[in-house]
Amino acid sequence: MRILLTGGSGFIGSHLAERLLKDNHEVVSIDNLSTGSLENNHKLVKNDLFHHHTSELLSEEGIELLKKEILECDVIYHLAAAVGVFNVVNHPAKTIKENIEITEIILDFAKDKNKKIVLFSTSEVYGKSTKLPFNEDDDIILGPSKYSRWSYAASKLIDEFLGFSYYRQYNLPVVIVRLFNTVGPRQVGHYGMVIPRFVKQALNDEEITIYGTGKQSRCFCNVKDTIEALVALIHNDDCFGQIFNVGSSNEITIEGLAEKIIELTGSNSNITYIPYEEAYSEGFEDMMRRVPDCSKIEEYIGWKPKINLDETIEQVIEYMQI
Ligand code: UDP
Repeated sequence: MRILLTGGSGFIGSHLAERLLKDNHEVVSIDNLSTGSLENNHKLVKNDLFHHHTSELLSEEGIELLKKEILECDVIYHLAAAVGVFNVVNHPAKTIKENIEITEIILDFAKDKNKKIVLFSTSEVYGKSTKLPFNEDDDIILGPSKYSRWSYAASKLIDEFLGFSYYRQYNLPVVIVRLFNTVGPRQVGHYGMVIPRFVKQALNDEEITIYGTGKQSRCFCNVKDTIEALVALIHNDDCFGQIFNVGSSNEITIEGLAEKIIELTGSNSNITYIPYEEAYSEGFEDMMRRVPDCSKIEEYIGWKPKINLDETIEQVIEYMQI
């Protein structure tokens, strides 16, 4: 198949590109390299089946390119989006515009051409819900619109509505995935992601910066596991018109995570606690717990994550030491 990947130079996109090429698919990536990097594709540049375009998807040239590539491809993974809480809080207008407009353009170009599409949403859409674990059919509770953090969830929810509406109105085969915290080599800490930040701090014997009390928890899924789900979903027609959580359900507090990373790196770092207002912005609201219910994806494609957190952290440590 010929597969179009927006955001193929990012953390998740580059792993997905590698995996699809292993199956001998032709992969066309369009990436503006704003948060991704061609370094992430270094293993692929000599592969004749891999094509990269550096382009802004909302520019005139980017839209033309999208139109041409959508016509020629069989499957589209639309991954390109703002990443990380810092990015979202600092560039809220850009985040909303890009999240919604690019998705709409892709769906519109694809609509009468029967292209399979995977749209990426996020566990952020579960917002302030306290009913755990989070199920795809749960009600959504977001914070007030005066706080930028929620704009990411709200714009991704619009993407979900768009995906469902094109599926229903135009029979476009769209599948939507809500990714929970995903980790592994090539993820960078500049935009807030906790594991690469803690590993880097620990390797440098710097203070480990816990935001808030550290009693908040997350479940981290290895990117390699995530990719296996993404690949399997497009091969089962029952998955189209459906939404799936993709993540791990093994929960750890952020304090527990800091201690684990100190131990696994053999670091001399101490832990420091930083108030949220100082770390992000005034009125910042964090989720205390975020646990996915992944029974639906298991039922549809038999997917379950296999790689545990210690192994994942070891992989990140090894990557950062190179
Ligand atoms: N976090 C932290 N220190 C950091 C970066 C993040 O304590 O240097 C916390 C953050 O406030 C959140 C958790 O770690 O409670 C996960 O943050 P991340 O940005 O990785 O993911 P998300 O908030 O989207 O789950």
